[in-house]
Amino acid sequence: MIEIVVATKNAGKITEFSAVLAGLPVKVLALSDFPAMPEAVENGVTFAANAEMKARHYAYHTGKACLADDSGLEVDALGGAPGVYSARYAGERATDAENNNKLLSDLAATGGAGPFSGRFRCALAFVDGEGNVITADGTCEGMILDALQGQGGFGYDPLFYIPGLGKTLAELSVAEKNAISHRGKAIISMAVKLAGYFK
Ligand code: IMP
Repeated sequence: MIEIVVATKNAGKITEFSAVLAGLPVKVLALSDFPAMPEAVENGVTFAANAEMKARHYAYHTGKACLADDSGLEVDALGGAPGVYSARYAGERATDAENNNKLLSDLAATGGAGPFSGRFRCALAFVDGEGNVITADGTCEGMILDALQGQGGFGYDPLFYIPGLGKTLAELSVAEKNAISHRGKAIISMAVKLAGYFK
């Protein structure tokens, strides 16, 4: 049994990541199992760089294998912003409402006609005790609306419309969202790779 630290304090993500690791000879540990852990610096310019930075940091500080993620929204009309700044688009510790408002006002300022094309991206990185790295990623294409729609999800979900479903991510159940989301796709890809790694 190898112990793997899942590098997140978000309970929802711990559940999702535990599902990736289910069936593998691993015991999942959370960051909360390691009090006084120094927080990882996330100053990469890509989601993949940030995920690997986080995984390496927590693998080093815990001495165990680690699985980390980074994700966010890219909007084409904004040159890929908010990108790696998605969580703090409207400032450090910005709320989802503040980030969504900034996104709407930045899109209005382009003078272009919406809806605007964009995508969510998720990068995952697994780093083991020897420093071996396995990466996986997933994307979810959609359109950014000019007003919030739906009550579920989090972050930019109420502005992110999936044309094929006629709904925003905030109007999907958790299972429906996982089936098409950037994170869901990255997790499935990582699960396949880890199954090979542990064989
Ligand atoms: P992190 O990977 O948890 O740091 O996510 C970064 C930011 O990207 C979040 O704070 C959200 O603003 C945004 N984000 C990432 N994934 C999603 C999603 O599935 N729905 C909505 N927003 C998301």
